[in-house]
Amino acid sequence: MTRELTCIGCPMGCALTVEVENGEAVSVAGNTCKIGENYARSEISAPVRAVTTTVLTAEGIPVPVKTAGSIPKEKIFEVVKDIKAAKVTLPVRLGDIIVSDAAGTGVAAVATRTVE
Ligand code: SF4
Repeated sequence: MTRELTCIGCPMGCALTVEVENGEAVSVAGNTCKIGENYARSEISAPVRAVTTTVLTAEGIPVPVKTAGSIPKEKIFEVVKDIKAAKVTLPVRLGDIIVSDAAGTGVAAVATRTVE
């Protein structure tokens, strides 16, 4: 089976063609660098993403939040739900932990901006 992917490693967005057998990438073409090959192999076997969203503070001010690392793609909805449900009050500092273990992934979600 062949899968067509777009590498998200940099703004070039190389079009990748991946030959897949038994759920694993056996060959990757179209990548300009090794990052593209690694991305394709990971995307086929265990896709992950960093999640960016916002949380509304008790004062009604939105604060941008990002996971501190990548999480399994199928957990994105649960992670966003956890972040949205967090109880946060101002002030919030850049890097403050908003959720320590987002949706049981073991990955924290942190504020990406200071909001006074
Ligand atoms: S393969 Fe390399 S050059 Fe191409 S989009 Fe991915 S990171 Fe960028």
